[in-house]
Amino acid sequence: MKYGETPQLIKEDGTRLDGRKPEDPRPIHMEVGVLENADGSAYVSFGKTRVLAAVYGPREPIQKYMVLPDRAILRVRYHMAPFSTGERKSPAPSRREIELSKVIREALEPVVITELYPRTMIDLFIEVLQADGGTRTTGVTAASLALADAGIAMRDLVSGVAIGKVNGVLVVDIDEVEDMYGEADMPAAMATKLGLVTLLQLNGVLTKEEFVQAMEMAKKTLEKVSEMQRKTLLEKYSSVLQV
Ligand code: ADP
Repeated sequence: MKYGETPQLIKEDGTRLDGRKPEDPRPIHMEVGVLENADGSAYVSFGKTRVLAAVYGPREPIQKYMVLPDRAILRVRYHMAPFSTGERKSPAPSRREIELSKVIREALEPVVITELYPRTMIDLFIEVLQADGGTRTTGVTAASLALADAGIAMRDLVSGVAIGKVNGVLVVDIDEVEDMYGEADMPAAMATKLGLVTLLQLNGVLTKEEFVQAMEMAKKTLEKVSEMQRKTLLEKYSSVLQV
């Protein structure tokens, strides 16, 4: 392969480097209530991308001037652990992490019923333990589970996945190599029951037809992810509900 050339990410048989078909997400794992000291928590992995989310609140903030009279304030911190990447990442918040914290907050705000908790603050921490592409979308998925685990009222769960274009083919749930060498990366998050898109970004170029197809692939995948989220919560709480 010459310098600057795109590596072959789709094999002759149409599968990807890790054997997945274009429409396949990576193996997904979800757990809730994984931390004792947080009000709510969740652990979610999409392949090698592993993310922990923790929620504190709703609680009265120490700085009283920060509250709003009619609703809770949602604060989000997205952080990549120094050991989450091949090379040690600086623990100090980067511009990318500050931007992603805002993007993730905006992806969750439409579903959290903040009006039920006036004059309070909800703090959400997203810690990327291992990064292999799709950390913002895995972060959103873990975050909405952690909010539900904290008992915070929501209109729906939010689920995220990134669709990419590699060697001219649209693929679901891109990993780091596909993100790095692919032609396009489209992270999306949806509240599938409400039919709401709460996060949509596009890096690279897609034709109008490709964009429509990519949105359809995201929706189809996220309906399944949302179902898995619901199942994970039910498994944890169904025994409580039966009492
Ligand atoms: P996302 O993780 O949501 O896909 P990006 O597209 O910005 O966000 O990053 C793609 C991937 O690149 C990350 O998942 C991670 O594997 C890698 N990456 C991002 N930032 C860094 C960094 N500072 N050091 C090493 N790898 C990084």
